Amino acid sequence: MTVDWLIVGAGYTGCVLAERIASQLEQTVLLVDRRGHVGGNAYDYYNEQGILIHKYGPHIFHTNSQRVWDYLCQFTTWRAYEHRVLAVVEGRKVPVPFNLNSLERLVPRPQAERLEAKLNNVYGSGAHVPILRMLDAEDPDVRGLAELVYKHIFYGYTLKQWGLTPEQLDPSVTGRVPVRISRDDRYFQDTYQAMPAHGYTAMFERMLRHPKIDVRVNTDYRTITGEVRFNRMIYTGPIDAYFDYLHGPLPYRSLRFDVQTVEREWFQEVGTVNYPNDAPYTRITEFKYLTGQEAAKTSVVTEYPMPHRPGENEPYYPVPREENRERYGHYQKEADRLRSTVLFAGRLADYKYYNMDQAVARALKLFEDTAA
Ligand SMILES: Cc1cc2nc3c(=O)[nH]c(=O)nc-3n(C[C@H](O)[C@H](O)[C@H](O)COP(=O)(O)OP(=O)(O)OC[C@H]3O[C@@H](n4cnc5c(N)ncnc54)[C@H](O)[C@@H]3O)c2cc1C
Repeated sequence: MTVDWLIVGAGYTGCVLAERIASQLEQTVLLVDRRGHVGGNAYDYYNEQGILIHKYGPHIFHTNSQRVWDYLCQFTTWRAYEHRVLAVVEGRKVPVPFNLNSLERLVPRPQAERLEAKLNNVYGSGAHVPILRMLDAEDPDVRGLAELVYKHIFYGYTLKQWGLTPEQLDPSVTGRVPVRISRDDRYFQDTYQAMPAHGYTAMFERMLRHPKIDVRVNTDYRTITGEVRFNRMIYTGPIDAYFDYLHGPLPYRSLRFDVQTVEREWFQEVGTVNYPNDAPYTRITEFKYLTGQEAAKTSVVTEYPMPHRPGENEPYYPVPREENRERYGHYQKEADRLRSTVLFAGRLADYKYYNMDQAVARALKLFEDTAA
């Protein structure tokens, strides 16, 4: 078999590039994935009860990019959805990111009102204040609130999610978590917040419906490079695996997903409930909130973070530490040397956490810059 392009990995990155190359350049693509389906981590499927499940954890689409939005609109219609998250703090459920509504649920009213006035005064109404900045506040009451949020919402969750304390992670992660001086309970604030009306997999299948695209699942690219001839390759798998771990493995955090269907219409009050403290899991998500499905039963997924062990479980989150970024830099140099024949892109090849819209934007840009 001879093709213009071999694309490794049928997640967002691989699918967008396959679609662009086939539809814009009219060149042939063989798209392979070692898993049994397309869609990468955004893959969804209907379970035995007919409920749409996100196999690799809940995926909520949100973007400020008009370009990404317009691009995806070619392949799906959407259902408007604004995600809401509660965190269990000392037996009470409070909205996160922490905001003025959370404050009212956690401290007695007169104290909450006094603190609200101070927060408005110090940071201004509507501000998003990174938790680490608030910990440095001059006002002892504001600092006290920051300590409460840090201790009860942030610290335990980070420890569970990463197996590391916030101090052991890059401040780029820890510094980002905001306290909102507003009553906006939405988890995201992007211009576009929606879910593909018929699910992510249906969207990917439409993207790939092109005579110049051939898809093979359950196929590790290493098993076919002998029989397939190609001019160029796009690789969206783990960059360290491509180079046989030449510079050592890049650490990832993994997760175990426990999906359960329960015999009642609803399980919890909102899409996701976080458990920052006393449970071995980080969060529970109820799919029907996300997908808008109506059913007598409901399905939920509980997430248990764990270390990544190559070959045993999936690499989900690159661990954001300086030493890992340095190691990635060595791989990046190797990748640059292959530039004329192999392009590297995507969350595993770039060793970088991307939201779905960022993965699409990255793929569109790569197509423009180098493939076209
Ligand atoms: C738990 C979780 C929740 C998330 N929630 C959200 C969310 O709510 N909103 C959001 O915007 N983003 C979310 N994301 C991020 C989203 O999953 C990524 O943006 C997206 O998966 C990136 O796509 P990708 O193509 O770069 O990578 P992937 O989807 O990982 O695709 C890479 C593909 O390459 C394949 N592959 C690897 N090696 C080989 C090989 N040797 N041969 C063949 N195939 C190979 C893999 O099987 C995989 O399918 C979440 C991620 C996780 C882990």
